[in-house]
Amino acid sequence: MTVKKAPGKSYRKGITMLELAEKFPDEESARLWFEEKIWADGRCCPRCGSKKTSEASHAKMPYWCTDCRSYFSVRTGTLLESSKVSFRKWVWAIYLHLTSLKGVSSMKLHRDIGVSQPTAWYMLQRIRKAFEDDDEPPFDGEVEVDESYFGGKEANKHADKKLNAGRGTVGKTAVVGMKSRDTNKVQAQVVERTDKETLQDFVVENTTPDTIVYTDEATAYSGLPRVHLAVGHT
Ligand SMILES: [Zn+2]
Repeated sequence: MTVKKAPGKSYRKGITMLELAEKFPDEESARLWFEEKIWADGRCCPRCGSKKTSEASHAKMPYWCTDCRSYFSVRTGTLLESSKVSFRKWVWAIYLHLTSLKGVSSMKLHRDIGVSQPTAWYMLQRIRKAFEDDDEPPFDGEVEVDESYFGGKEANKHADKKLNAGRGTVGKTAVVGMKSRDTNKVQAQVVERTDKETLQDFVVENTTPDTIVYTDEATAYSGLPRVHLAVGHT
């Protein structure tokens, strides 16, 4: 009953870190790459859309729009706006985000590319927004995860239709749910199994690596690649 999804990140073919380092040896190469991607149809003014632009001698804003008479750069109006982070660091952050199966945390990005942890967090928010391929944005902040079981009154079924097991959850439908402590947003999914792999995949797919995850003490969540806190059931 699990929903079939499009091939995930594990199927994406990419370049190696070494190739990335060779492709972007300096700031200029990274800036040109962003310009090619963002202005695929030719350079245009981010404010008025005019193509009547020229190169300017302004240090931070290397282009000039002759129509609305303003300077701009490839950062203007994009995910890179109002950021002092170099183009090369952005390239690396995007690479790490897109190639990391379980997502990259702000702490890891902070260490890997040498920006402060708050800056890394801000960059990841922007990158997720720009590259999000799911309809639902992942949960951030603090979330609670729990499993519930519905239906399947085994005792009432005819003997030959009963499932062979003594556990109380057999024959019932399992649902794993997640609730944000900040926004009360809820996400739930019917699952065939409530084993470690199924439950952890659900959590990883729906959260960012900075999400703090509260679960019961079920061992199914041990080793979860998130900040994980177990709370006792009373
Ligand atoms: Zn303009």
